[in-house]
Amino acid sequence: MLQYHSISEKKIKIRSGEINLKENVTAFLNKINDQKDLNAFNFVFEDDSLKQAASVEDKIKNGTSGRLAGMVIAIKDVLSIKNKPLTCSSNILRGFTSVYTATAVQKLLDEDAVIIGKTNCDEFAMGSSNENSAFGNVLNPVNKSRVPGGSSGGSAAAVSARLCDVALGSDTGGSIRQPASFCGIYGIKPTYGRVSRYGLTAFASSFDSIGCFANSVEDMAAVMEVMSGKDELDTTSSYLDVPPYTSELNDNNKKFTIGIAEEYFGQGLSPEIKNAVGKLLNHLKQNGYETINITLPHSKYTIATYYILTTAEASSNLARYDGAHYGYRSDNSSTLIDMYKNSRTEAFGTEVKRRIMLGTYVLSAGYYDAYYRKAQKVRRLIKTDFDNAFKKVDLILTPTSPTTAFKFGENAQDPLQMYLNDIYTTSANLAGIPGMNVPIGNDSLGLPIGAQFLAGQFNESKLFQIAKFIESTF
Ligand code: GLN
Repeated sequence: MLQYHSISEKKIKIRSGEINLKENVTAFLNKINDQKDLNAFNFVFEDDSLKQAASVEDKIKNGTSGRLAGMVIAIKDVLSIKNKPLTCSSNILRGFTSVYTATAVQKLLDEDAVIIGKTNCDEFAMGSSNENSAFGNVLNPVNKSRVPGGSSGGSAAAVSARLCDVALGSDTGGSIRQPASFCGIYGIKPTYGRVSRYGLTAFASSFDSIGCFANSVEDMAAVMEVMSGKDELDTTSSYLDVPPYTSELNDNNKKFTIGIAEEYFGQGLSPEIKNAVGKLLNHLKQNGYETINITLPHSKYTIATYYILTTAEASSNLARYDGAHYGYRSDNSSTLIDMYKNSRTEAFGTEVKRRIMLGTYVLSAGYYDAYYRKAQKVRRLIKTDFDNAFKKVDLILTPTSPTTAFKFGENAQDPLQMYLNDIYTTSANLAGIPGMNVPIGNDSLGLPIGAQFLAGQFNESKLFQIAKFIESTF
């Protein structure tokens, strides 16, 4: 029931009767149940997914089905689906039900995808290991003593363990690419504004983007082709046309110029990852790709800039969870102010509180210029570094993460160490450019290694094409 490599193959098998979609969804549901210990899902939609499967199967048979007909998709629990729970893996939203559906999810439904459930993640998408979830840790299916990465850990684990075909995630500073690399799968964060954020719970609004995880490049391209595009409900979504990513995949022998920035291969990078990326680079060179050394001189400021600006935005975005509007309300308060304070104190987790306090601090009157305003200026310099680089190269190749999947608890007591895990991923969000994780092998412990490709704004096609070339030749 799970014998296919991509959606086009699956569709052919459904049409010919070789795969029955209802049985396929049942097989996924059984697997989800058998692998409950992974804790990848916050909610599983058994009845709805089976009902959807039956109706999509009919459409496929009578030739009226949409582009994603038959694809079984899990949704990170930061995206709204009407009449379904939305928790962001936080106690403050336990019991909350969405009143509308996110545009990205609606577009999948309109093309006949089957939604199987909502996946676990770090609380409000803040974290790199999924250890900050009020719903508990997610285990890495490759090695259960290791974290799956974060914040979209449940989505990555679900795709890697084949509990669904594809999963949506959100990426504010690496939350798709880093867990994809830890779990050995593909993951893409598109250009800022490529996919509507309507219905995505805001963490840092000028950084947040919606993307996906998949086991094949084709599936990833198919989902992004559907989800991308202008949406009147998100003024930051782009009017630019969406290229036909899937049909462009056949054109995967373009000899792109690839930039290598020494800043991404320095101290702290695991030698095994460095070697693996080096091997990939040699492979590309041998196949006629030109490589150029480039420099991204402001790279050393990315982590500081990212954590100043995203905490600032988060402190503002999370002000709405006050006990009055949404979810949890503390009942042992005698005044309104007490109710606000107690609700937030009791229901937010440690990391979320840390970020709200950091963000409030960098925005406060005496420190605004020294931190927030300065970081905005540095963000611009980081963006300019990339603009200059993409005048010379089509793509930039880096490691996705400095280490492979670490053990539970290894970085949990040291927030700075945890933040440093995002060293190669946050720059794409600071610059608003697209990035992708491509699985390229395993380390000596058998843990997956990922390579990251970055492209200029709205150049997702180049990412899909190089990934397709690597998928079929490396
Ligand atoms: N790990 C990063 C953070 O904790 C990225 C999170 C994300 O992309 N949502 O902020």
